[in-house]
Amino acid sequence: MELPSPAPLAAPVAPAAGQTLPSRARDPRKAEFETNKLRKRLRRLVGQAIADYAMIEPGDRVMVCLSGGKDSHGLLDILLTLKDAAPVRFDVIAVNLDQKQPGFPADVLPRYLAERAVPFRIVEQDTYSVVKRVIPEGGTMCSLCSRLRRGVLYRVAGEIGATKIALGHHRDDLMATFFLNLFFGGKLKTMPPKLVSDDGRNVVIRPLAYVRERDLARYAEAMAFPIIPCTLCGSQEHLQRKQVAAMLRDWEKRHTGRLDSIFSALATVTPSHLLDRRLFDFRAVRASGSAAPGGDTAFDVDPALEEAIERAAAPGISIARSG
Ligand code: SF4
Repeated sequence: MELPSPAPLAAPVAPAAGQTLPSRARDPRKAEFETNKLRKRLRRLVGQAIADYAMIEPGDRVMVCLSGGKDSHGLLDILLTLKDAAPVRFDVIAVNLDQKQPGFPADVLPRYLAERAVPFRIVEQDTYSVVKRVIPEGGTMCSLCSRLRRGVLYRVAGEIGATKIALGHHRDDLMATFFLNLFFGGKLKTMPPKLVSDDGRNVVIRPLAYVRERDLARYAEAMAFPIIPCTLCGSQEHLQRKQVAAMLRDWEKRHTGRLDSIFSALATVTPSHLLDRRLFDFRAVRASGSAAPGGDTAFDVDPALEEAIERAAAPGISIARSG
């Protein structure tokens, strides 16, 4: 069953560089149809992620961290529509942290949230001055800024009785973080869809884990969310994160399906075929004497992998294999 469209929204978002104007400007009916289709896809993906990782349980009070960027706006909007339709009863409360960055338009989010009748809390805490004081001129401030923000949000979660903290990280964030850890951290890890916070008191969820960033950008534009940029402080995104994001975008353009394969791999781990002795007891490996279905051929390449590689190189060509 399709849900009713949310109430009309506040000030429109200007299209980002390189983006086309909303098709709504050309043909309102077609634009509405496309927006509904996109909303359905987002709801399906968010619903799927919530179900797969048991993110929301009956009676949960979900605190949505609303920065004012396109991702957190999309998260809040989709969770609100799901809340109205879900068989499970849960509450949503939006929380925005006003970090006292110069030029922060403090009235925008309260007005928007009040118009949509969304319960919310605006928390004012000057983390901006702390970051400016601690980080030398020209340094990247994001890491300290996020740490301070996290501490405040955890505290607020306790104050408002939130049982889950929802963050707006999406599929592209998860993949970029995976490669950053791989390239620079020497670890196979990323932002998980659900985890216990480092203070041990909160459960953090990422309901957008299956959603592509470009869909969130299209949705934000179509819904005219009142976007507040995260660069008021003048800080720049980490260079490496930018480069990894560009690498992923380039792959997506040049190799159809590569990002889908990477994302699928993140959820399909075979500990016995990696090298981490904490995850698999290699000492206990013994010949069983009987063939295992799907067992390793050890000396050969993986036929399924070979087939997938050839399919990607020459779509439509089937590969004959001898027994
Ligand atoms: S861009 Fe500015 S506000 Fe955003 S995380 Fe970095 S330092 Fe904080």
